[in-house]
Amino acid sequence: MAKLLLVVATRNGGKSREIREFLRDFPAEIKDLNDFGPIPEAAEDGETFEENAHKKASFTAKVLGFPALADDSGLEVEALGGQPGVRSARYASPKASDDENNSKLLEALTGITHREARFSCVLSLAVPSGQALTYEATCDGVIVEAPRGHNGFGYDPLFYHPPMGKTFGEMDLEEKSQVSHRGKALRQLKNEFEKVLQWLNRRLEEEKILRGAHDICHR
Ligand code: IMP
Repeated sequence: MAKLLLVVATRNGGKSREIREFLRDFPAEIKDLNDFGPIPEAAEDGETFEENAHKKASFTAKVLGFPALADDSGLEVEALGGQPGVRSARYASPKASDDENNSKLLEALTGITHREARFSCVLSLAVPSGQALTYEATCDGVIVEAPRGHNGFGYDPLFYHPPMGKTFGEMDLEEKSQVSHRGKALRQLKNEFEKVLQWLNRRLEEEKILRGAHDICHR
């Protein structure tokens, strides 16, 4: 049987690195959106991480014709009523850099001592017809008063994880993956690689049969 191709539906280098590391043993060729050049992008206008993850995965799978794995994730800060939440990537402005988002967050928390926060991650693995598997996980922490560490991406230098005694920005990829929202969600997926592979192959087979029937009807 030809090797399966799985697209990680992101252009975010930090996310892609973390996901690809987990998928190393998955018997599929792994690509991300940067391997495909310009293609239309899914609108991330859902109200929940789950909605956005499914939109990105199913849209990418449909446009490219391959199964796609999307991550929608973000940071919810208790004292800010759950902000930036689903808008984490666009907190400071629609095309904000990580530094701009981090500065805005520190400014919003000026003078606030209760700095509890939670990272959430929803993974959606979809086939071109839109059917999908979902995995989700969270990680609790505290927002520090100034950035610490240069590893990772996004809010990593501001997110302190008490059990490890470090910010995500001070952890290497392996340490972060052990405790992070994304690491936990990816581990759930990895624990059932065998079943996931069967599910994917069955869905893709069904789609092939449906496409064949459609072609015959429209000849
Ligand atoms: P989206 O899932 O592409 O909408 O973007 C998620 C955004 O949440 C990222 O751009 C980061 O700002 C933030 N984020 C999600 N996961 C992490 C993480 O593991 N570390 C730091 N920031 C994260």
